[in-house]
Amino acid sequence: MTSSTPAVVRTRFAPSPTGYLHLGGARTALFSWAFARHHKGVFVLRIEDTDLERSTPEAVQAILDGMNWLGMQPDEGPFYQMQRIDRYREVIAKMLDEGSAYYCYSSPEEVEAMREKARAAGKKPRYDGTWRPEPGKTLPPVPEGRTPVVRFKTPLDGVTHWNDIVKGPISFDNTELDDLIIARPDGTPTYNFCVVVDDWDMKITHVLRGDDHINNTPRQINILRALGGELPQYGHLPMILGPDGEKLSKRHGAVSVMQYDDEGYLPEAMINYLARLGWSHGNDELFSREQLVEWFDTRSLSKSASQWDPKKLNWVNAHYIRAMADAELARRVAPRIRALGGKPEAVDLDAVMGLLKDRAETLNQLAEGAMLFCRDFTGIDSALRSEHLTPEALAVLADFASQAATLPAWTTEALADLIKATLEKHGIKMPKLGVPLRVAVAGQKQTPAIDAVLKIMGRDTVLARLEAALKG
Ligand code: GLU
Repeated sequence: MTSSTPAVVRTRFAPSPTGYLHLGGARTALFSWAFARHHKGVFVLRIEDTDLERSTPEAVQAILDGMNWLGMQPDEGPFYQMQRIDRYREVIAKMLDEGSAYYCYSSPEEVEAMREKARAAGKKPRYDGTWRPEPGKTLPPVPEGRTPVVRFKTPLDGVTHWNDIVKGPISFDNTELDDLIIARPDGTPTYNFCVVVDDWDMKITHVLRGDDHINNTPRQINILRALGGELPQYGHLPMILGPDGEKLSKRHGAVSVMQYDDEGYLPEAMINYLARLGWSHGNDELFSREQLVEWFDTRSLSKSASQWDPKKLNWVNAHYIRAMADAELARRVAPRIRALGGKPEAVDLDAVMGLLKDRAETLNQLAEGAMLFCRDFTGIDSALRSEHLTPEALAVLADFASQAATLPAWTTEALADLIKATLEKHGIKMPKLGVPLRVAVAGQKQTPAIDAVLKIMGRDTVLARLEAALKG
């Protein structure tokens, strides 16, 4: 922790529940989570649901599911902004009272006319301050029957500056900023205002969020200053671009993180991969969640956009699959086998995982590979039979079957030896036995190593299928 890092770090992830948790959101959450964990701080989840038209309970659930899948449980929350409306109203009343906010009775048409006028004069379109109280200024008479909005009294001059954790020093001239509306005519608070009150009340020390929020930050800083709150440190994360360097598209990444679960990616791999999108620890590509927490620092956050690379994600996922214990893989793959119509309990699934895991990139590929052992055997396709179970092949298979029946131990080694001995005895090369054997026991020409396949299928199954194949 640097000397400027407060004693208790408090970060938050503040999604708007207008859609699923996508990659960008998940990465923002991950960095906020990892930063809090690294500093033994507190990670807060806040659902920014004040946009009633776009927020849905399904989206809230999708966000919670995504975070849960990735193992990023909040220490506090979820808090819902819609449940905090009274608090926002209370702060607005206080600001009106203290003079840092004011009622504005200009109609939307009048404000548009002000903007138009500014535009015509070659200035930035903005509210002209008609209702802004100033010492010695007389305000216009309140128009009959009009409900006011509440505007924040933005400083008229000076510069709002912060040292962005990611991007370095950023400043905005206050003359660029409007007196923004903090409450609508019906009294409901607006987006930027709620964020400020929440960050203040929740004692957030570090705000990490997408750099699409940079323009909101000076406004939020000014409001927070007016409230007398302590400023958090802000860090704005650059975008994640698609493999083509364009905005993430539906084809690449602009989908729910849960889709990656559906496709057979491990949350462990996803976390590792997401962390590398905009953060680095030397040249390390593979690290555990614990290492990420141990190593995470904001100095190594990248200033430039990162690129989504599906091939690299596959590579990372394959690594985690290889490294995972067979029993754990079996536990995760079994439901996927069931979804394919297979019976995972029909086989020693741990052994199947051990056989397949070195060559799989996803859990779905493992499930598909395991179907060889988990689907009901429906016999041999007649075309395969006539091509591969020729009289010569059947003679070799018959010999193999009778020897196999007498094996004292049904092990991969014993089966490998028997295959070798059979090849020698008949003076043939491996395909002449391997292919008919696969067709006979599995109904397909290709399988993983046949000795291991026979071992896992088990003596009874193998001998029964060989016998059936020999009978024709
Ligand atoms: N609710 C905002 C969003 O989903 C984030 C606000 C913030 O992090 O300050 O983009």
